[in-house]
Amino acid sequence: MTSFNTQPKCPYCGKPMDKPVSRKIIDRAYDQITRRQYVRTRMVEFCSKECGGNYQMGCEG
Ligand SMILES: [Zn+2]
Repeated sequence: MTSFNTQPKCPYCGKPMDKPVSRKIIDRAYDQITRRQYVRTRMVEFCSKECGGNYQMGCEG
């Protein structure tokens, strides 16, 4: 592994992001303190709007 290439990659398709597109992603996470699921909202960068949409659909299941 080399850390030379630090260009961020799309979390959906894995391609390097030349012009990252931010998208709000809503998914569920497990809170270990309250032991309940909660809805988490975060901004994630993708290589395209399409990848963001696909990623969100995968989160919703
Ligand atoms: Zn992508």
